[in-house]
Amino acid sequence: MHIEGIVLHKTLYKEKDLIAHLLLRSGDTLTVYFYGGKGGGKKLKGSIVEMGFMLGVYLQKATRKLESQIQVAKEYELKWHPKYIRENYQAFCLASFYLELIAKISSEAHIDDVHSINNEGLFKVLSNALFYLDEAVGKKSFDLHQHLFIFFAKIIIELGINPDTKNCLFCHKEFRPSDLCLFDYTEGGFSCMECSSQKDEFLSENKSLLYEHQSAQELRQKLDQAYFTPYKEYETIQNLTQGLTIAEFNYLNYQFGFKEAGYKTWKSLSH
Ligand SMILES: [Zn+2]
Repeated sequence: MHIEGIVLHKTLYKEKDLIAHLLLRSGDTLTVYFYGGKGGGKKLKGSIVEMGFMLGVYLQKATRKLESQIQVAKEYELKWHPKYIRENYQAFCLASFYLELIAKISSEAHIDDVHSINNEGLFKVLSNALFYLDEAVGKKSFDLHQHLFIFFAKIIIELGINPDTKNCLFCHKEFRPSDLCLFDYTEGGFSCMECSSQKDEFLSENKSLLYEHQSAQELRQKLDQAYFTPYKEYETIQNLTQGLTIAEFNYLNYQFGFKEAGYKTWKSLSH
């Protein structure tokens, strides 16, 4: 059987072998054993089983006894790999974060079901995210928060948990672009000023709360824009700040019950 997938994670095994988790085109993951996958040997062959690399793999036909066990790669080839990401430390950390997040939210494929298209959107988001990140580093236009913002927004859409950016959560009033609002993580949407319990007079006296409303308004507008922007046009979404990407991150974590401290790679992006 032939599969294609992006390496999310790899573990060295014995001296030269590797066990890797691949994100398949179906959006599910598969654990594959690569004999000699570490590379090296007499000819010092480099490894192509590297994080973020896309491989085409022929799997060994499983014997009855091994059916429920790990899949073994018979032959494999490199389909795509990032050329520039390693040149920029921050971009490299971002790529590692992409892989970690996708590994957390995807689920292991059943071997009879590796060609289904249940969650194919996750594969599309990750392959686009890595491709455009690599391209941006190559042409020296990499902007951490621009890339991270669109990545989160596309993940949120693919998972079907996108907050409604058009209408107030509670009274369903349609927002005008300039309308202030509050982002409600728990309800997964935005509430208008009338529905927010705070009064206007209170707001003008309370600068930190006003800021929160302005950032929520910005988040609403940028998310709205990201929903309708194809990945390849991500550069048209401008002025993305750390505050906005953190709001998306917190929202995703809330939805999944994840804790910030549970990530290995987030710290390298947020400090
Ligand atoms: Zn309202």
